[in-house]
Amino acid sequence: MQTVICERLEAIRQRIRDLATEYGREAESIRLLAVSKGQPLGAIEQARQAGQLAFGESYINEAKLALAAFPDLDWHFIGPLQSNKTRVVAEQFTWVHSIDRVKIVQRLQRQRPAELAPLNVCIQLNVDDESSKSGVSPDELATLADAVSASSRLCLRGIMAIPRPASDLSQQRHSLARVAQHYQQLKSDGYPLDTLSMGMSGDMEAAIAEGSTLVRVGSAIFGPRSRAGRVG
Ligand SMILES: *Cc1c(COP(=O)(O)O)cnc(C)c1O
Repeated sequence: MQTVICERLEAIRQRIRDLATEYGREAESIRLLAVSKGQPLGAIEQARQAGQLAFGESYINEAKLALAAFPDLDWHFIGPLQSNKTRVVAEQFTWVHSIDRVKIVQRLQRQRPAELAPLNVCIQLNVDDESSKSGVSPDELATLADAVSASSRLCLRGIMAIPRPASDLSQQRHSLARVAQHYQQLKSDGYPLDTLSMGMSGDMEAAIAEGSTLVRVGSAIFGPRSRAGRVG
């Protein structure tokens, strides 16, 4: 088990370097977030020992176990965020990728402790306009970007997206290219962004091809996750 996670992590790092070369990008411009949701704490420990320091969690209740066990790691919240769960994110995470409404921005601004650095924020863009998924539509991006920018305890870093699943590289690139366009547009509108959070185990190549600066990889590092959430 130990070597498996360590080897998969090294293989993903190598793949990121290879893809960067293939698509004419600097490998250092692409960060790897290890998505540990649904994984046992021992798996996080193994990835940590292999040098991985940034981890992503999607569910507050199971995240609390990981935060308590590894308070010094760099925790990114990437799941849907309900307003009654914002306090844990404000107090214990360094990033949140899934901001999709002003009310959440206001709560995080109030709850982020003064002694911590501002919470890094990505706005989640719903690029395929699927009514079932979270994220804002492109025409709501500026409103939310303004709300985050006006919040002293938050630092606007970029955009996150989870496009509709597609198996074909060119189809994947099509959705991700639109996310990248909105990101570039916000940058040219003057928002100082540096993070385009897109790409998972199944679409990492497409995401790197389209300019992702942070890939969120779970199963390709840890293997299949428990549907019942964190066990052990
Ligand atoms: C679960 C999850 C991931 C990782 O997905 P894998 O397919 O396991 O790599 C990435 N981003 C978000 C927002 C997720 O919820």
